[in-house]
Amino acid sequence: MPNCHRLAATPRLRLVDALSLSLCLLVSALATAAAPAAAKHDSGQLKVVYKPTREFAELAKSLKHAKLFDQQVADLNQLFAWPRDLDVRMENCGQANAFYDPTEGAIIICYEFVDSEMESLRKVYDDPEDLGEAVVNSTFFVFFHELGHAFIGEMDLPTTGKEEDAVDQLAVVVLVDLGQAGEAAALDGAISFGLLAKESGDSPLWDEHSLDDQRFYNILCWIYGTDAEKYAYLVEKGHLPEARAARCESEFQRLDKAWKALLAPHLEASGSKD
Ligand SMILES: [Zn+2]
Repeated sequence: MPNCHRLAATPRLRLVDALSLSLCLLVSALATAAAPAAAKHDSGQLKVVYKPTREFAELAKSLKHAKLFDQQVADLNQLFAWPRDLDVRMENCGQANAFYDPTEGAIIICYEFVDSEMESLRKVYDDPEDLGEAVVNSTFFVFFHELGHAFIGEMDLPTTGKEEDAVDQLAVVVLVDLGQAGEAAALDGAISFGLLAKESGDSPLWDEHSLDDQRFYNILCWIYGTDAEKYAYLVEKGHLPEARAARCESEFQRLDKAWKALLAPHLEASGSKD
């Protein structure tokens, strides 16, 4: 597993810290949107599980050592009233995948997925530390995407349109609220979809996911929509066509408002918990 040890490199850990510290920023936005006395009974907790694996032993050790998801999960437990226990599990799946499994009650991130992100993003990032950081970033994007599925499934949230698009939106909404490090994670999530589109061709048209290129442009659009001045370079460098960019601010505002309104009734009653 070349370069896996780089996952534990200092810059990446700094990024994990940055991502960890500020998830609670979501609270103020959600509290504003919350209906009075709407908090639900909290009877569950998310729990991080790093399953042992022989094939990806070094990778698993690095991720466990870095406590990749631990702080986010602690924050999510503190913020939301989960109706039942759920695992956030890293495991050997036999395929490069990540998914929410309502039957098992788990969000599963396969070691193969992290490994495939490493191989894919290597084409964009030469520096091993940059690569490690990008892999963590795109893995965080996918974690929050799967978290979106879990919110919808566990809290019985309504959706209109494609659920897959809605949970890409959730990932961007959460990451943007995490500040600069979160925005970088969302951009690496977009780059990963851009690479997928080039490498494996687009998904079939009947697939529930939007095409990888569409997901790439959607994420860029929503990030741009948070601050058109800050992210003007995305348009200037031709990554995001002007015709789409013109709508991105209002597009992001609407989806941000929608997700925060949907999640607000599921906040912990007090907003904090021991
Ligand atoms: Zn999905």
